[in-house]
Amino acid sequence: MTASSPPGITDVHVHIQPWRQLKPEVMEAMRRGKEDHWQFLLTLMDDPKALLEVMDRAGIWRVGLVNYPSPDLMGFTDETNGFAARYAEAAPERLLPYGGVHPRFAGDIKGHVDELLELGIRCLKIHPPHQLFPANAHTQGMQTLGVLYRRCEDRGLPVMIHTGTSIFPGARCKYGHPMEVDDVAIDFPDLTIIMAHGGRPLWMDEAFFILRRHANVHLDVSGIPPLKLLEYFPRLAEIADRVLWGTDWPSPGVHDLRRNLEQFLSLDMPKQLQDQITRHNPLKVFPVQ
Ligand SMILES: [Zn+2]
Repeated sequence: MTASSPPGITDVHVHIQPWRQLKPEVMEAMRRGKEDHWQFLLTLMDDPKALLEVMDRAGIWRVGLVNYPSPDLMGFTDETNGFAARYAEAAPERLLPYGGVHPRFAGDIKGHVDELLELGIRCLKIHPPHQLFPANAHTQGMQTLGVLYRRCEDRGLPVMIHTGTSIFPGARCKYGHPMEVDDVAIDFPDLTIIMAHGGRPLWMDEAFFILRRHANVHLDVSGIPPLKLLEYFPRLAEIADRVLWGTDWPSPGVHDLRRNLEQFLSLDMPKQLQDQITRHNPLKVFPVQ
């Protein structure tokens, strides 16, 4: 990238995770519909070069590698953080490792956040339906969650919060309600918050309200079928400077990085807005280091 050329495209939300840790019933749900290329996806989880080839073919410059501990529901242990950091070492400019600290299990929360930063983790993921607490549990006595948000705010580590449903066995979808992000944005005004999925497919109105209300909340459009994006968020342009491109690939229902991008680019939307979402906004949240 030179100073005069526009930055490349960033997909802020792909699932490169230690799938070998998945519980058998979760693995089964993950595998469904991907039987024909399952072996390739397993290879991908261990081979960054294979991912970089997929990215090159899709015209993607950078991806965010979503990881978070969820030992009791998904099977992911804290090892998921080291996994993401090691994986990203293959191409540090192009692979952005995300990680997590589980507020129901972790002891020294501040110390764990600092460890993530030492590992090079670029974003902390909170997954309420898979970690089994509401995103605003800090207002209901879960002190560890408040400490976690505060430390991320102090250290400038963005926090991505899953909103919307999840199909995995045992996921508590009620915790995916975007209205709970309101408390987080109020109590931690300097925290960079990324609302993943915009509450899809149930709570887009609430999600949009929160996005308009709080300048520190960004929308990651991953998991929304690209061709439905403007149906889900008809006033997307009003929050143009805070929308981030993402796919959620290879989660259930998301088949191809490139196809999603092409569908997004085919929407009736000014090119300048598309560039903002795919290129410029992600670079603001995740600058080149
Ligand atoms: Zn996801």
